[in-house]
Amino acid sequence: MKIFQTISALQLELQQQKKEGRTIGFVPTMGALHNGHLQLVKRCISENDFAVVSIFVNPTQFNDKNDLIKYPRTLEADAKLLESVGCHFIFAPTEDEMYPEPDARKFEFGTLESVMEGACRPGHFNGVAQIVSKLFDAVCPDKAYFGEKDFQQLAIIREMARQLNYNIDIIACPIVREEDGLAMSSRNTRLTPDQRKNAVEISKALFKSRNFVPGKSVQQVIDEVVSQLNAVPDLRVEYFDIVDARSLQSISRWEDTAEAVGCIAVFCGEIRLIDNILYGKVCS
Ligand code: AMP
Repeated sequence: MKIFQTISALQLELQQQKKEGRTIGFVPTMGALHNGHLQLVKRCISENDFAVVSIFVNPTQFNDKNDLIKYPRTLEADAKLLESVGCHFIFAPTEDEMYPEPDARKFEFGTLESVMEGACRPGHFNGVAQIVSKLFDAVCPDKAYFGEKDFQQLAIIREMARQLNYNIDIIACPIVREEDGLAMSSRNTRLTPDQRKNAVEISKALFKSRNFVPGKSVQQVIDEVVSQLNAVPDLRVEYFDIVDARSLQSISRWEDTAEAVGCIAVFCGEIRLIDNILYGKVCS
């Protein structure tokens, strides 16, 4: 496994691999790797001749400065994990390498970005699109792997790839959870033991809501989940929306969509966690 810090060094090696006819798979991450990331990497390795993982905490997607400062950075441990699963290249650039000058590009994702994460974190998806497009340009992969945990991000990346005519297969990978159900996240390491115990209620409420769905209206399901979670110490729901899985727009009746998904953001103390659950086609 090799670690690169510059785009030019990475490209030199990748061009050689491509010349020799190898396919390139790519997993963009912000590091502090956990099993969720590793599942993406393993799939990337199994479906491509060559796997590249980027590790870069992208400043332009953080609307909360404190979150950026406190974001865990564990490059050495990450490299060991990636080596153990058979990753070929790590790309771990500096901020200057990715942003030699400020990126002034403004993306337009319309209603896909005006809801949920986009509404709560102004500029977040513009920053995501800036860095992912730069990384796509650097790596030129055949396939790129993203987690369904960031459900809205996946839709934004697909739209960005469409707008910019990237010839890259965007592959969605299922959410990986801790044994008790909590969605794995680099931010989980920042939870105190008490907060960690309370955080599991998020996934529990989502799973429970699936059983609650038959016979209940969309609003009743939303109210039930929100009131359950807000009653847990340390937890404060920022939003819980039930949306159409493609358009990401809220639905008011189950029959309004062929595939409903419930997306949630919850503050656990000062740590912001997201999760989602697929309801599919609900016949009420
Ligand atoms: P991040 O390092 O948080 O930017 O995540 C990098 C990639 O890993 C993104 O595509 C995430 O959606 C994905 N990812 C993070 N956590 C999980 C998880 N628990 N299950 C599946 N994918 C995940």
